[in-house]
Formats: sequence, structure tokens, C-alpha cells
Amino acid sequence: MTKPLIVITGASSGIGAATARAFSELGHPLLLLARRLDRLEDLKLPNTLCRAVDVTDAQAVSDAVAEAELQHGPVDAIVNNAGVMLLGRIGDQPTQEWRTMVDVNVHGLLNGVYAVLPGMVERGRGTVINVSSVAGRKGFPNHTVYCGTKFAVHAMSENLREEVAAKGVRVTTIAPGAVETELLSHTSDDGIKADYQAWKEANDVLTAEDVAATIRFAYEQPQRVCVREIVVAATGQQ
Ligand code: NDP
Repeated sequence: MTKPLIVITGASSGIGAATARAFSELGHPLLLLARRLDRLEDLKLPNTLCRAVDVTDAQAVSDAVAEAELQHGPVDAIVNNAGVMLLGRIGDQPTQEWRTMVDVNVHGLLNGVYAVLPGMVERGRGTVINVSSVAGRKGFPNHTVYCGTKFAVHAMSENLREEVAAKGVRVTTIAPGAVETELLSHTSDDGIKADYQAWKEANDVLTAEDVAATIRFAYEQPQRVCVREIVVAATGQQ
């Protein structure tokens, strides 16, 4: 049987790339979005449309979804995974870094929802999977704005579920603990970055594949079952 189309944002590295591989193994056609097209194409996944899209550009996200649907039929799931973590102290962090996190982690996620939701509601089925974080449930030092964006992901997901549950659309929040990916590399404060890197090296962290398997588990439940939220972290993480 032909598998339906799945959209994954931020698929050029880490959790998004691992999730793309996991759904491709199941035979799904994919639309992969990120700014680095070469990294999307390097995955070399069959039946996959790769588009260089900045998720903060709502029109570009919607255009890519429309293009993929022409090729592969309606979107059955979106994994809103694109995100940035720019750790810093509020008192001396460049304020542009706040804006980048809010733009990508909040508006970018909403743009993904906006591009697929009308079609899902019309068909009476679909799955929106939003990647949050343990940092969307509790605070950590130097994470103020990042935590703010991830608490927002939880809040928006809860509200979205209320809006669309009766219309047959599932909304799932995945909240991983620390995962070994490129996420930390974009933090501009070298001291904070070094401390977090040292913490990661001294502690147990997840792999991107661990999180991808969790996302796949949530999606693979029967349509009548909505996995509302999964918090997943390395056993040794406190
Ligand atoms: P990576 O840095 O490896 O991946 C982030 C992805 O987001 C990349 O593919 C990047 O692609 C994409 N991205 C960033 N900005 C944009 C943008 N403006 N437009 C489109 N794509 C964008 O990190 P992770 O895999 O770890 O992160 C994935 C998600 O998991 C994030 O939402 C993160 O907050 C969350 N998370 C991560 C944890 C961790 O410890 N690693 C823990 C908990 C949650 P490109 O640069 O090519 O645009």
C-alpha cells in the first residue's frame, strides 16, 4: 500500500535527519525542509523532495508543501523539528539571538502547522508532531529565552489539540532531554558553550536516532490514538 506524505522541518542534521531516515525506512514519501539544501540531498532518501526553506518564511513553507502534495498527495504528518538554541545570560546576550529563537522555534513551528492544517481538517485526519524539549517543562541556567520558546511549544500544542481533536487531527509534543547533535554549536558565548559541552561529555545523552524512534512510535499508533506528549531523556540524565 502506498504510504502518505510526511513533512519534516530541520531535516539537515540531528533529530530531523534521523527522523527522515526512520520514516523513509517505513516507505513514506517525504518533504524535507531546512536552509542547507546540500545536507538534505546528502541523505539520499528515495521518494523525497528537498527544499531550501527558512521556516520563518511562511509563504516558502506553504509553497513547498503545495509542491510536494502535487507529487505525493496530501500531507499525513508534519514533524515541526527545526529549532535553534542560543544559550546566554539575559543581561548580556545579543538581543538578536532572542529574536532568532522566537522566530524559528515559535513562528517557524506555527508556519509549519499553518501550511498543513487546513488540508488535515478537511480530510478529517492528520498528525502534527511538535518537537519541544525538557526545557519546555523546566528551567535551566542560561536557557531563559530557549526555555520560553519551548514552553510556548507545549502551550501552543495543547491549545491546538483542543482546536482540532474533534476534527480528527492528532497533535503530539515530543520533549527530549539532551541529545548529541549540532544544536549547541550555534551558541555564541564560548564559556557557556564549553560548560554545557563538558556537562554533555560527563553525562549520558540521547542519540538523534533515539528521538526519531520516539517520534515514529507516536505516529505509528492507530489514528484513533493520540499520543499527546512524550518526555524522553537518557536514563542517566537528572
Ligand atoms: P541541530 O542543530 O542538529 O538541527 C537543527 C535543525 O533545524 C537543522 O536541520 C537546521 O537546518 C534547522 N533549522 C534551524 N534554523 C532553521 C530555519 N530558520 N529554517 C529552517 N530550518 C532551520 O539540532 P537538533 O537536531 O538537536 O534539534 C532539533 C530540534 O530538537 C530542535 O527544535 C531542538 O530545540 C530540539 N531539541 C534538541 C535537544 C538537544 O539536546 N539536541 C534537546 C531537546 C530538544 P539548517 O541550519 O540547514 O537550516
